[in-house]
Amino acid sequence: RPGRRPRPPAAPGPPRRGRLRDEGRGMSGLASVRERVLGCEDCGLCRTRTNPVPGAGNPDADIMLVGEAPGRDEDARGEPFVGAAGRRLSVALEGAGISRGDVYITNVVKCRPPGNRVPLPQEEAACSGHLAAEIEAVDPRVICVMGNTAFGSLLGGSGVTRFRGKTFLVGGRLYFVSLHPAAVIYNRDLSQALDGDIRELAAISERIGRGECVRADHHGRVAS
Ligand code: URA
Repeated sequence: RPGRRPRPPAAPGPPRRGRLRDEGRGMSGLASVRERVLGCEDCGLCRTRTNPVPGAGNPDADIMLVGEAPGRDEDARGEPFVGAAGRRLSVALEGAGISRGDVYITNVVKCRPPGNRVPLPQEEAACSGHLAAEIEAVDPRVICVMGNTAFGSLLGGSGVTRFRGKTFLVGGRLYFVSLHPAAVIYNRDLSQALDGDIRELAAISERIGRGECVRADHHGRVAS
């Protein structure tokens, strides 16, 4: 895409660019994901949602953040991370010198599970194509996996507290594991940990931008 800063691959391997047709990338790619999400009836959540919630943010973002699923505020407004967890996430991003408008934020599941329950495996599976298409369209330097649902869905892991702050290289993409901002709302002791995770995320993105090598802690999905 013209005007975009060059970014070297995080590790040796085939170049990621050029795998998809151009229309799958950037704004036009995201516009078609958005349209599909807005009309999606692939699982039962479409019957209880107020609004589907596609991802939002910079279509050329260096950093993509992935949460669990929309909550009440997001369901009401049709936008991700606009409630209490979203406000806490904005604070963490600002503390790391990242403007919220520069990143792309989305969820594993695009419709609110009733009562904010954890999404069911079949709901995650039904929604996984939307997330994969967002990742391909934005093509970020690094994907921040926030909390257990995103950790399980994208990397096959569980027990995010053990893996937070670690990087994974999977399918040529770099993932960084962090706490979910909602965890801090329930447990204030985790506040510094979340802020530290997001600062580390910013540092990783900066290092890739400078052409430095980022060594992944893990290669491949977690076998758990
Ligand atoms: N929690 C999430 O995981 N996603 C949102 O969009 C809001 C809260």
